[in-house]
Amino acid sequence: MSEGVGPPAWAPATRAVHLGRPAAEPGGPVNPAVVLSSTYHQGGGRIYGRDDNATFDALEAAVGGLEGGEAVAYASGLAAVAAVVELLPVPGRVVVAADAYNGTRSLLADLAGRGRLGVRLVELADTEAVLTACADAAQSPGRPSGRSGDFGAGGLLWVESPSNPLLAVADVPALVAGAHAAGFDVAVDNTFATPLLQQPLRHGADVVVHSATKALSGHSDVLLGVAVTTRPDLHAALRRRRTLHGAAPGPWEAWLALRGIRTLALRVERSQANAGELARRLQAHPGVERVHYPGLPEDPGHERMRRQMAGAGFVVSFVVRGGGAPAEAAEAVAAGVRVATAGTSLGGVETLIERRGRMAGEEHLPPGLLRCSVGIEDVEDLWADLDGAIRAATGT
Ligand SMILES: *Cc1c(COP(=O)(O)O)cnc(C)c1O
Repeated sequence: MSEGVGPPAWAPATRAVHLGRPAAEPGGPVNPAVVLSSTYHQGGGRIYGRDDNATFDALEAAVGGLEGGEAVAYASGLAAVAAVVELLPVPGRVVVAADAYNGTRSLLADLAGRGRLGVRLVELADTEAVLTACADAAQSPGRPSGRSGDFGAGGLLWVESPSNPLLAVADVPALVAGAHAAGFDVAVDNTFATPLLQQPLRHGADVVVHSATKALSGHSDVLLGVAVTTRPDLHAALRRRRTLHGAAPGPWEAWLALRGIRTLALRVERSQANAGELARRLQAHPGVERVHYPGLPEDPGHERMRRQMAGAGFVVSFVVRGGGAPAEAAEAVAAGVRVATAGTSLGGVETLIERRGRMAGEEHLPPGLLRCSVGIEDVEDLWADLDGAIRAATGT
C-alpha cells in the first residue's frame, strides 16, 4: 500500500496533493510508478494484474482519503456503478432519480428488463416522495433472496446530487437517514460535486461512486471509475467484483487520474468561480429564459447546497429563448461557440457545452436546455463567446 497519508487534520486541498505518494526515502521518487505488468514473480503478495496493481493502490489511497473511506478503482465510471448494482440480491429493489445519469438509468432498465431488479423512479429533490417510494418498495411482494445485513438486502437508494443536467439538489443527510430507517442502503454518485465539495460517506452513505473520467482526472483524456465505502465487507465485495468482471483500469489511466487529482483543488476553485460568474450574467441575458445553478441565491437548491456542500460546482445549465424553435436555437448556440467546445462529458479544463435533449433517453428535458461544464479559461473570453453565440442564435 502507498504511504504518505497525512494527518486527518489536513485540508482536502493538501490531501489531494499528497495522498498516494510513495514513502519518503532519500533518492526515491516523489511519485508512484506506472506499473505496467500483468503478472508478478511467484511467492509474494501479488499474483496477477487483474487483481492487483501498485498504481491502482496509489490512486485508491488518494480518492479513499478524500472521500473518507476505502476505494476500488475500475475501468470506467459505469463499471463502478455496475459493480455496486451487481451486488444486489435478485430480485433487487432500486429507487433512483428519474433524471439520474443516463448510463446508470440504462443499466438499471436493462437489468429490470431481465427480471434482475425492480426500479422506481423518483424526483430526488422531493425527500418525502423518495422516502415514500422506499417504504412502498420495501412492502412489495417478491422478497429479495439476500440475507439481512448483505448489501442491498432491503433495497438500494441511488442518489445523484446535484442532478444531471438540471442541477437539483437532494437533501442527502435526510435521504440517507430516511432510507436507512426503511432498511435501504444508499449509494451516492458524487461525480458532479467531487470530494472537495461534498463527502456523502460523512452523511452516512454506504458507498460513493465517481466517474473519475470527469473532474478527478480533469483533462478529458482518461476513462476511469472509483467506488468508495467505509464498510469493510462492502469494500471486499467491490474488489472481488472488479476481479470477476475483469473491470480493472489500465495502470497508465490510473496514474493519469492520480496526476489529475494533484490539481483538483485549483481546477475546481477556478471553474466554479467561472461557473458562478457565467450563471449570474446568463440570468440577466435577454436570450436566456432560465438558469439552473445552485450557487445562485434564487435557485431552489441554494439553501440545501449551502448546508451540505462546500460550493455549487462547475456545471451550469440554461434554457435559451428560442421562440417557436428552442431546440434549433440551442443547437445554434452550441454550433456558434469558439472558446467552448460543443461536446458531451464534463469536468475537464476546457469548457464543454451540449444540448442534452439531443441524447437518447433525455427527451424529457426542455428542448432549449444547454448544459455547460465550465472550464478554467479566462472568464471574459468565455463570456464574450457565450454572449455572442446566444445573441446570434436568439436574435437578441
Ligand atoms: C460520466 C458519468 C458516469 C459514467 O462514467 P464513465 O466514466 O463515462 O463510465 C456516471 N455518473 C455520472 C454522474 C457521470 O457524469
